[in-house]
Amino acid sequence: MAKKKYTVGSFKLKVKKSGTGKGLFAEENIPKGSCIIEYIGVVVPEDKLDTINSKYLFEVGKKTTINGNIPQNIARYINHSCKPNCEADGPEGHVYISSIRNIKAGEELFYDYGEEYFDEYLSNGRCLCIKCKKTKSKK
Ligand SMILES: [Zn+2]
Repeated sequence: MAKKKYTVGSFKLKVKKSGTGKGLFAEENIPKGSCIIEYIGVVVPEDKLDTINSKYLFEVGKKTTINGNIPQNIARYINHSCKPNCEADGPEGHVYISSIRNIKAGEELFYDYGEEYFDEYLSNGRCLCIKCKKTKSKK
């Protein structure tokens, strides 16, 4: 596989109210395959990992985890979806959010948080993303 380039574009983004609180929205069209934003944070020492209770921990390498709960990291507002328009990925030590399809101005950005997130934060295993809410609300 060819190596992707991780150069963050200068797309206009905005934090706005979304279905589940706050979300990050595109303010302009973003073409598929664009690197949108880096998920930044403070590196958490391995021995402290178990003591930190943050929803914003992100494993960015084999031995590196960052805590993205800092004001500069607006990527933390990106919500989970099982039908995302972005993916999180990057070289060792970094994670970038890239578009996996064309995103129109005004759309909310989503990526798939992955199974670990569900195991840790959704004890009943129920996903509340827009896609799952729709299919599970019929009881
Ligand atoms: Zn879902």
